[in-house]
Amino acid sequence: MVEADPGPSASATPQDDVPHEECGVFGVWAPGEEVAKLTYFGLFALQHRGQEAAGIAVSDGRQIVVFKDLGLVSQVFDEQTLSSLRGHMAVGHTRYSTTGSSTWENAQPTFTTTSAGTGIALGHNGNLVNTAELVARRADPMPSRGRVTATTDSDVVTGLLAESAADLGVEEAALRLLPDLRGAFSLAFCDETTLYAARDRHGVRPLVLGRLDRGWVVASETAALDIVGASFVREVEPGELIAIDADGLRSSRFAAPEPKGCVFEYVYLARPDTSIAGRGVHSTRVEIGRKLAQEHPAEADLVIPVPESGTPAAVGYAEASGIPYGMGLVKNAYVGRTFIQPSQTIRQLGIRLKLNPLREVIRGKRLVVVDDSIVRGNTQRSLVRMLREAGAVEVHVRIASPPVRWPCFYGIDFASRAELIANGLDNEGIRRSVGADSLGYVSSEGLIAATEQPRSRLCTACFSGEYPIPLPEEAMVGKHLLEDVAGTACGDPGNVVHQNGTRAGVPVPSAADGSGAPVRLPLSRSTPAYGAEDALSRP
Ligand code: SF4
Repeated sequence: MVEADPGPSASATPQDDVPHEECGVFGVWAPGEEVAKLTYFGLFALQHRGQEAAGIAVSDGRQIVVFKDLGLVSQVFDEQTLSSLRGHMAVGHTRYSTTGSSTWENAQPTFTTTSAGTGIALGHNGNLVNTAELVARRADPMPSRGRVTATTDSDVVTGLLAESAADLGVEEAALRLLPDLRGAFSLAFCDETTLYAARDRHGVRPLVLGRLDRGWVVASETAALDIVGASFVREVEPGELIAIDADGLRSSRFAAPEPKGCVFEYVYLARPDTSIAGRGVHSTRVEIGRKLAQEHPAEADLVIPVPESGTPAAVGYAEASGIPYGMGLVKNAYVGRTFIQPSQTIRQLGIRLKLNPLREVIRGKRLVVVDDSIVRGNTQRSLVRMLREAGAVEVHVRIASPPVRWPCFYGIDFASRAELIANGLDNEGIRRSVGADSLGYVSSEGLIAATEQPRSRLCTACFSGEYPIPLPEEAMVGKHLLEDVAGTACGDPGNVVHQNGTRAGVPVPSAADGSGAPVRLPLSRSTPAYGAEDALSRP
């Protein structure tokens, strides 16, 4: 047995040791349909893209009502709330924070009013890299001085849209603003009458268009179209703005497309039942597993996945290697959904809270264990130890992505560069650190071939360090940019639904207890809920 060293960041929990999505967006324009409930189910399908907060904005043609809160979709909304959100159009959002803290004010959709008194609600998936520059462009960069306000790049965009929308209208204001946003953005937003969807010129994050019998849907992933019975029409093109209203669907270009889709969506981020650029994510992951088997064969008795994200690649590895596939780990599917803070004793159980070994399957076997990626290495280290304790005689770790050596500035929250185990160690060092008998990562070429996309159309920066969108220094500051650097709050006083349930003459749905307050859950950055950062709960 190889002795495991504790590694560079042994104190981090397994919940910290995964990449975190930043957001999922959903929009629907469908007069006569229950748009809030459609959005609710759409957000359910996108829950893996953000588990810190959820919100829905609904317009009935005269006014926009926003309901949002910290927590999972199922915790934020109940039947009574959804029934009170009536209209013909909705925008929904699930959030993991990439800029700004996990506070109620930073939940989305954002909302702000123009000087003409109309509203704009916006949901954003991605991360901008020129936020400070955009803040400086606002007529009043500190519109909410002294108030508790939102501190996200999304809120800055909403504010800038509102500043010119009164004169130009939202569509024209967006066409003028969007070319100036740098970074990754897939947006779903609306005014009182029109649903908009826009995707940055690189198409880093996915965004798709779907058709209902009586309307249209836009969503981060095709899986969210499926759940609401919408048929896939096409992707929103990089550099495209779509507007949908009573006059139909209009498409405009605000920038020439330069596709650089996130390759990590295929590896881990997107649901397996989603398709990206015409390629099924599940099929891609199975193919990655086949490549992994060709590149890193092993003498073993059984291939087991780290569920759920390692499962398709393990299937592919077993298929290509001829080694039987089996289930050696059982995932405690609901632990990622608890908001109970664990005691230190419970926290020390680490990975055992999430995964339990099937001892009768594992005992006496030489195992190939397939996982999607290694971030800090803590998860794999604990896993190898647990499998050996369960009786495995050899543990060969196979990873369905190349080593993650660089942080993502386009919307995925890995660890900092210093915390990434592959930043400080070569493969042999990582193998020793996690205690495996052998370790193999799929090559960059193998991964890209499995996506069936040309390398030139993909972002691979977290593996290669080649960032396709130039990074100004401010981007390096990280997610708390608007709190730490600008020192300003970036929302409009009217842009959030306040806890007391009032906002500039707009009625706000209130809690079921009749108190008039939106439902709030006991989750904040300072009191992280255990499991809330377990980024994915795969179906
Ligand atoms: S750096 Fe990695 S995670 Fe970020 S967009 Fe590029 S490929 Fe995706």
